[in-house]
Amino acid sequence: RCTEFDMAYFQSYSHVGIHEEMIKDRVRTETYRAAILQHQSSIAGKVVVDVGCGTGILSIFCALAGAKRVYAVDASEIAVQANEVVKANNLSDKVIVLLGRVEDVEIEEEVDVIISEWMGYMLLYESMLGSVITARDRWLKPGGLILPSHATLYMAPITHSERYSESIDFWRNVYGIDMSAMLPLAKQCAFEEPCVETITGENVLTWPFVVKHVDCYTVTIQELESITTRYRFTSMMQAPFHGFAFWFDVEFSGPAIFPANIHGYSPPVASSDTYSPGSSQRKKRSKSNEALVLSTAPEDPPTHWQQTLIYFYDPIEVKQDQVIEGSITLSQSKENPRFLNIHLEYASGGRSFVKESVMR
Ligand code: SAH
Repeated sequence: RCTEFDMAYFQSYSHVGIHEEMIKDRVRTETYRAAILQHQSSIAGKVVVDVGCGTGILSIFCALAGAKRVYAVDASEIAVQANEVVKANNLSDKVIVLLGRVEDVEIEEEVDVIISEWMGYMLLYESMLGSVITARDRWLKPGGLILPSHATLYMAPITHSERYSESIDFWRNVYGIDMSAMLPLAKQCAFEEPCVETITGENVLTWPFVVKHVDCYTVTIQELESITTRYRFTSMMQAPFHGFAFWFDVEFSGPAIFPANIHGYSPPVASSDTYSPGSSQRKKRSKSNEALVLSTAPEDPPTHWQQTLIYFYDPIEVKQDQVIEGSITLSQSKENPRFLNIHLEYASGGRSFVKESVMR
């Protein structure tokens, strides 16, 4: 059922600005194009569905890679423009634009490939992955290809004194006037909700922790309604600890030959005892060749997703080797299923607290 929340959501994608921002994100768009070319042998002569085609760019990449037919589906009015772009590029015989939700449109055949750019801030904001799952369960042939195939959400403790000073300490002395009375409000306004901003590897206090790993071939909608993970970090240095950063990567590999979970998932292994920016592998090993990875990590080239930060209201001094632990729960908001509730429990050095926030 298409709700009022869906209507507002699809409306937000009818503006050109949001598509311009995504397309101008070269890391994003070029990694998708490279992945399409890498999997060209699975796409040429095959039937593809593009879940949420927007302006049609990924559908067109697939058509140019030799797809027999591409169903470009979008529930936003932007599909009207996608159709014009397809016509202007003489691809109307290959790319069929459907204006509607993937949950509602009819496609009268099974498809070999699903492609989609569904990732939101903090990976799960917008809850669009559910629509990719629906498309998979409605149309994908057994053994078909899903791009991207896997996604991983990470979290890590961070230090960010400049950010804290800029928004908070600033009030301590304003043109020589003590405006500290503003501090409680300033902290609430700056740090109540998650912030989307760019940090660097230098802000990160230790190796990231995997909050959730998703195998797009097997993940279910129920599994995404609420995700809880316990975390445990050991700080690599003494520093003021300001909160947690979240980021994700997605991988473009073929369907697993063996059941996906047979070997379990092993998170990135810390190879040294300091977190060294820039040392992350861009590619992950897969069965036969290297799978392309689109990363939004702080040490990798920036993307329009940036990182998502959950700041504490006040910094916490941590010592080297101090253990930081707790749990994180991400769930769809009751207020609007497109919103993300973040419940963070924290304990370290005899202190503990809970922070609730909502990504709207
Ligand atoms: N594929 C395009 C646009 C990605 S943005 C690109 O890479 O540039 C995601 C798009 O998915 C938006 O245009 C949004 O309207 C659409 N979308 C999200 N959920 C959908 C659903 N359930 N059915 C159809 N379209 C959907």
